[in-house]
Amino acid sequence: MDVPSPVSPPQRGAASDHKSPATCPYCGYTGGLAPLSEDTVIGHNTFISVRRCTNDECRGVVFYYRGREGNVKTLPYRSIDGSKADIPSGVRNALEEATICHFSGCYVAAALMVRRALVDLCDNAGVADGDLSHRLELLGKTLVIPPELLAGLRELPMLADTAASSESAIYRAVSREEVQLGIDCAQALLKALYEYKSLVGRLEALKDQRITP
Ligand SMILES: [Zn+2]
Repeated sequence: MDVPSPVSPPQRGAASDHKSPATCPYCGYTGGLAPLSEDTVIGHNTFISVRRCTNDECRGVVFYYRGREGNVKTLPYRSIDGSKADIPSGVRNALEEATICHFSGCYVAAALMVRRALVDLCDNAGVADGDLSHRLELLGKTLVIPPELLAGLRELPMLADTAASSESAIYRAVSREEVQLGIDCAQALLKALYEYKSLVGRLEALKDQRITP
């Protein structure tokens, strides 16, 4: 009969960086999360703690996890940026689902949802011809966005043309980093498409108020 190995009690006070390089899920600040409690080691180079956003206008409190590969997770997790009201529901739901899947370590599911979000984003922008890579190329002609960003996005293996590669080959090697990049780039595209429109709308509304006596 196997005897279960004893479970080591959690260790406290492990040395870690004072301000951890994670994005605040509340305000999107990337300047660091300051510890509110000692780190508790729960495995080899893996620890948890409670941290606070170092943006003084936010100071949001999060439960913080850092894995041995340096991957960081927070609770609450970071949802999508920007004014959600301006983003079409299909795009918003797909990207939020991608974020949840990424948080849970389901990288293939997350990659599929990033792809879905980008297809919907192109559809909503009136770009519906060709495969996803071609659509993203066309999208770059209508958006004010660095061409290097779109070019890099189109080269992500998880966004490859499914007619040229089998889906299993595309998703077999998808990594946490690749999915995170896909989510971050999709966020940048959303900002370019919808935050800009929202700002223009607010500027025009303010102009109308000033003209109206
Ligand atoms: Zn914050």
